[in-house]
Amino acid sequence: MKLFREIIGHQENIHLLQNAISQNQVAHAYLFLGPKGVGKKTTALAFARTLFCSCPTGGDACGYCRFCRQVNERNHPDLHQISPTGSSIKIDQVREIQKKATIKPYQGQRAIFLLEQVETMTSEAANCLLKLLEEPNQEVSFILLSTQPYALLPTVVSRCQILSFRALSTAEITRGLKQTLNPEEKEIHLALALAGGSLGQALKITQDKQLQNIRDETLIMAYNLKKSTLNEICRQAEELAAFREMLAVRLDVILLWYRDVLLWQLTGNQELLLNQDHLPLITEEALFYSSDRLLNIISEIEQTQRYLNTNVNARLAVEVLLLNIQQGRYT
Ligand SMILES: [Zn+2]
Repeated sequence: MKLFREIIGHQENIHLLQNAISQNQVAHAYLFLGPKGVGKKTTALAFARTLFCSCPTGGDACGYCRFCRQVNERNHPDLHQISPTGSSIKIDQVREIQKKATIKPYQGQRAIFLLEQVETMTSEAANCLLKLLEEPNQEVSFILLSTQPYALLPTVVSRCQILSFRALSTAEITRGLKQTLNPEEKEIHLALALAGGSLGQALKITQDKQLQNIRDETLIMAYNLKKSTLNEICRQAEELAAFREMLAVRLDVILLWYRDVLLWQLTGNQELLLNQDHLPLITEEALFYSSDRLLNIISEIEQTQRYLNTNVNARLAVEVLLLNIQQGRYT
């Protein structure tokens, strides 16, 4: 559980929320928009803690009073967290909110309803929530979190004060990783490469030893491609496509592998490589492929990634990709 001052990035949003509290102008509804894992929920909880804290200083919660601890332990009676049951937030959940919102806050001036993944709301639920957002109520604030603004009812969006959360920079994620874990350099590089600007994802990747193994396995597979037989390639494509949920990660790893080979070839600067621990193999690959061919391989991988976001046959798409890499169609 983080205090405002411990949050990495998003300083503008944090100042805005701190000002709202100090000037007693907390909005009836906020919408926090941004990619998954960048800190929307962390910020929302820090906001709730600061609102509820019995002795806040400098616009931040103390972190140890009874109310702060209740937020940490998820049993503050005026903080209600709602997330999808199954695949969506349903009408019954919003009716429950409706009921609770009419009751006076138990401990403080205000109750907070924190709704996660609001883009999953059924239209019935969204319309019901809209009515709540339209009713003025000084004792209730809503914080809606979403990764997909376009999936929300425009009428819901227009009722909220919108705060955008951007993806974190490389430096911010590195700082976040070092603050929480004690990662090795190569783990940081992998997390940065795969996390897409999300500290939450980066932390998950760093702690996931299985993912580290998958990365090593996938790199070795890419390295061996140039001497694989047709049968071996078909089998590899089948294996890759069989675990669809890991396929995106594996393709990212393969993409970053060839990016490293190209970078090494062009700059000879080890610092720029994401897979520094495999330098001998990278050096060998750099002698095998021309720069033009590496560029083409990279764009072929990107194209396959785009195909896979549509409904193509994954095994076939991967097979074509691996064959193209192996047969050097682009030499
Ligand atoms: Zn406190």
